[in-house]
Amino acid sequence: MAMADIIDGNAIAEEIKAEVKAEIAALAARGLVPGVATVLVGEDYGARMYRRQIERTAAEIGLAYRDLTLPAEATLADVLEGARALNQDPAVHGILPLRPLPKGIPEGPVLEAMAPAKDIDCLHPVNAGRLALGQPAVYPATPWACYVLLERYFARKGLDPKAAFEGKELVIVGRSNIVGKPAYFLALERNATTTTVHSFTWRAGTLPAHTRRADILIVAMGKAEFIKTEMVRPGAVVVDVGINMVPVLDAAGNPVLDDRGRPRRRTVGDVAFDEVKEVAAAITPVPGGVGSVTNMLLMRNVVRAAAATAAPATVGGH
Ligand code: NAP
Repeated sequence: MAMADIIDGNAIAEEIKAEVKAEIAALAARGLVPGVATVLVGEDYGARMYRRQIERTAAEIGLAYRDLTLPAEATLADVLEGARALNQDPAVHGILPLRPLPKGIPEGPVLEAMAPAKDIDCLHPVNAGRLALGQPAVYPATPWACYVLLERYFARKGLDPKAAFEGKELVIVGRSNIVGKPAYFLALERNATTTTVHSFTWRAGTLPAHTRRADILIVAMGKAEFIKTEMVRPGAVVVDVGINMVPVLDAAGNPVLDDRGRPRRRTVGDVAFDEVKEVAAAITPVPGGVGSVTNMLLMRNVVRAAAATAAPATVGGH
């Protein structure tokens, strides 16, 4: 079989960026600048990197950005007070709490303190509940990115991006609140025949039997290159959400060191890309797949939240 189509997340992210910029320009013409705020508590490396990315993307596309950073010693009351201030701030339309929070700060109360209308990642229970009930809801950026990649890929292949899901076997590996579980509801919304598998499926020994049935396979497990050729149906379309850092090895299997003598690392997904691309019909790469699209969709949600607050255009006004 021919090698899989590589679904280019960077190119699709650029497309979305152009669309979002046009939406921002249309709002600017009405005097509205959408604004996004992040809430960072403490020093977590990943959360800090994510904050910088959001700040940079916001600047690139013309969104206002507000940074709320609290020290690791902050109390839950401090964080809730910060969240409430952002709820009240008319220049902020979208709020993103960055995780993980420091150990002493429970996540639930922080997410629930956000105004649901300013939640841009479907983290508030009201929004997550609406999504589960099939009601209009803000879409969570990462699982939404999986479907945007698929839909734009199907459209490029000349397929109807709606019909391409209907009645298809869609298997999701992972059931986390931020990826796997909402990915399930988004699959049902598209009328796919939907299966979720997780670590107990693996322990029961039936994981490969499930994944091999998939016409569309979405993998969000956080296990480097776990999904191998024999777990994938030939001709399947594979979306790899995983982001894992692994050491770079030389031909003898020893770690390669950088200039400063530290082991070099590279980013890989949850799917063994090099072998699975030989059997799949299409696959998203890591990096350059889901992650590229996720941030741009968060920005799209900020713009939508801002547009929802705008007064409808008046006819014959002052
Ligand atoms: P998570 O909370 O750790 O969830 C992992 C899921 O995988 C769990 O449901 C777990 O099952 C399941 N799992 C683990 N080992 C398994 C096995 N051997 N067989 C079957 N299922 C197994 O991770 P997450 O937050 O969903 O993130 C998943 C990956 O996506 C990570 O690599 C993360 O870095 C990446 N990610 C990427 C983006 C992006 O924008 N691209 C955004 C968020 C996350 P149980 O529930 O039974 O434990």
